[in-house]
Amino acid sequence: MTTKFLLPESELPTHWYNVVADLPSPPPPPLGADGKPATLDALAAIFPPGLIEQEVSAERWIAIPEEVREIFKLWRPSPLYRAHRLEKALKTPARIYYKNESVSPTGSHKPNTSIPQAWYNKQAGIRRLATETGAGQWGCSLALAGQLLGLEIRVYMVRVSYEQKPYRRSMMQTWGAEVFASPTNLTAAGRQILQKNPDTPGSLGIAISEAVEEAIGRADTNYALGSVLNHVMLHQTVIGLEARKQMALANDYPDAVFGCCGGGSNFAGIAFPFFADKAAGREVRLVAVEPTSCPTLTKGIYTYDFGDATGLTPLLKMHTLGHDFVPPGIHAGGLRYHGASPLVSQLVDAQLVEAMAIPQIETFEAGLLFARTEGIVPAPESTHALAATIREAKRCAETGQSQSLLVCLSGHGHFDMSSYDRYFAGELRDYDYPAEAIKDSLAHLPKFA
Ligand SMILES: *Cc1c(COP(=O)(O)O)cnc(C)c1O
Repeated sequence: MTTKFLLPESELPTHWYNVVADLPSPPPPPLGADGKPATLDALAAIFPPGLIEQEVSAERWIAIPEEVREIFKLWRPSPLYRAHRLEKALKTPARIYYKNESVSPTGSHKPNTSIPQAWYNKQAGIRRLATETGAGQWGCSLALAGQLLGLEIRVYMVRVSYEQKPYRRSMMQTWGAEVFASPTNLTAAGRQILQKNPDTPGSLGIAISEAVEEAIGRADTNYALGSVLNHVMLHQTVIGLEARKQMALANDYPDAVFGCCGGGSNFAGIAFPFFADKAAGREVRLVAVEPTSCPTLTKGIYTYDFGDATGLTPLLKMHTLGHDFVPPGIHAGGLRYHGASPLVSQLVDAQLVEAMAIPQIETFEAGLLFARTEGIVPAPESTHALAATIREAKRCAETGQSQSLLVCLSGHGHFDMSSYDRYFAGELRDYDYPAEAIKDSLAHLPKFA
């Protein structure tokens, strides 16, 4: 009975897979504030040429730089596990596999993109990167990349997380990054929001505005985003490319692939390489799982919206709850961004990817069951994908169908124990983000959209 399916370092992917090559239609382009396709110049103010090229590329395979692959070897290829003990607890005939991305130095999948992003910026002569972070994993991952590749990192951390997750802040500082609670009074965007609402808990959209403003204003500084954009989805495909080989080692192929979805990067990472098979005619379900309190894919609309709160970024065609959406503080599980990856959104709109939303108590129950059977305490984000997988495995137990289920364990929850504490204390409530509030936020969409 094999538990871990391991690839040697020589099997580390040499190329990223670009899903654009297999989409049924070309992705709608980003637009400028005037409603016309955004010029590459607008992107060049905050991103290096290497990443812009990837952002607009339709090439199926893009080579991973050798220095990036060498750094990846610190934790990649990551292991694929068969969840024997979870299967047993569920009395399911389903075969459950999880790809364990928690083995990276920061404990999540995010260094898969922070390392190449820092590398391409360094190639372009950039000295500093500004970024936002919500729960702190992205800030940690970029701090790590800055440390390994010699770039200064400044992180605008959503205030509510800054207060709730002090150890994420210390971790970023351990890797040499500067960290501020956002909104700050260091930027015009931050000051504008503090003036209107001094007690704001902050949001990812606000923190993005601050980081982008800084990157636009300084020639030595670029901006880095941990999810949503096409080049981020591209970088994360190392997850699924490895998983495909590992499923073959297990003599199996998934009937369904599950990933949690905030901005969409870990879902894209595990699912896109299997989409390549689907595009070639193979049957496989790809399921993106989000919280009911931030239901971007299931309740948002597919349209052009800004990536940040104050309208500094180009407009992206994506599922959105409206760029001024501020997620409820009651929600403990991450995945709080108002939008979603344009590539994932396009696939959901084309009904090639399924989306579902799960309430938070069920996600923590799934996290606990996983921790108590498989031993790893999952990140609250990952528990969404686990909960969906467990629902499917239970369905298999009822019908007697032996399906093969693959799930991305996007990270561990060692820095999120305060969320588990709230669950243990019975403080968490299921919460559907009110349809009224969504309607209100959507009323502020850019007018020509
Ligand atoms: C950031 C993060 C996510 C969500 O990112 P996506 O871009 O939506 O995939 C999920 N899990 C963990 C552990 C994370 O750190």
